[in-house]
Amino acid sequence: MKVLWLQKLTCCGNTHSLLNYETPSALFEELSFIYHPSLSLDSQEEVVRELIEKGKDIDLLVIEGAVECGDKELIELCKRSVFVVAVGNCAVYGNIPALSDERICGLSYRFKEKGGLLGDNFLSKGGLPVINLSGCPAHPEWIVTTLLMLAGGIKLELDQWNRPMLFYSSLTHWGCTKNEYFEWKVETEELGSKKGCLFYHFGCRGPLSYSSCNQTLWNGVSSKTRAGTPCFGCTEYDFPRIGMWETKHYAGIPTELPIGVSKRGYIMLSGVAKVFAPERLKDEN
Ligand code: SF4
Repeated sequence: MKVLWLQKLTCCGNTHSLLNYETPSALFEELSFIYHPSLSLDSQEEVVRELIEKGKDIDLLVIEGAVECGDKELIELCKRSVFVVAVGNCAVYGNIPALSDERICGLSYRFKEKGGLLGDNFLSKGGLPVINLSGCPAHPEWIVTTLLMLAGGIKLELDQWNRPMLFYSSLTHWGCTKNEYFEWKVETEELGSKKGCLFYHFGCRGPLSYSSCNQTLWNGVSSKTRAGTPCFGCTEYDFPRIGMWETKHYAGIPTELPIGVSKRGYIMLSGVAKVFAPERLKDEN
């Protein structure tokens, strides 16, 4: 399959993520890049102009970065593509560039609003909606596996945001090495600590965000929460938020509770957990 990778309003973080993939040979054996800003010498504008003029179809179009709502050239290229992949939170939801400019959006969303550049009903030539790989950036494994599955004709199960279930069906909290501290409500004392949980004071979004960050580790060894930094929920539409390093409370209870946990259940369980937390966890922290 031939891939056309275009960059729009972006810091290029997803390209860095792609280039960080551990076995690039697997990628280049199956895919060839018509154009990628970091792998090609030509200018993106010239490549796009030529493709539009020649009216050629594209196998796999990957967009990195937020886009201008109404970008006619990009709409044309998307319509001519067998598959369209939005990589990174900017291309999916608009993210940081869309915060201060209403004319900026993602390919099929603007934050949680459906539509974006291509509208709610867009299907590529291959009969799929835009496949969204959210994250700031998306993990290299999510990018490469998705591209290889599409190239290999393997069916992708998608979630309600059209993200592959393979990577976005479990919470970031799953697999975190701090789960025992979370259960017993033992809070971390300081950022960077390997002990204690970051949910109660440091704003960790692990129980509110979907990603496989703690199962498919970064660089094969770690994740934010394992390194003692809160998960910022960068795979979700409401990223970035103000006050990402703190947990907001009302009457001593976090204003946003883990997905599926009721306020009543939280109050009952967390009170008991804190009182009966094993001494070894408190001592270690
Ligand atoms: S640090 Fe975050 S992800 Fe890890 S257990 Fe605590 S809440 Fe869950």
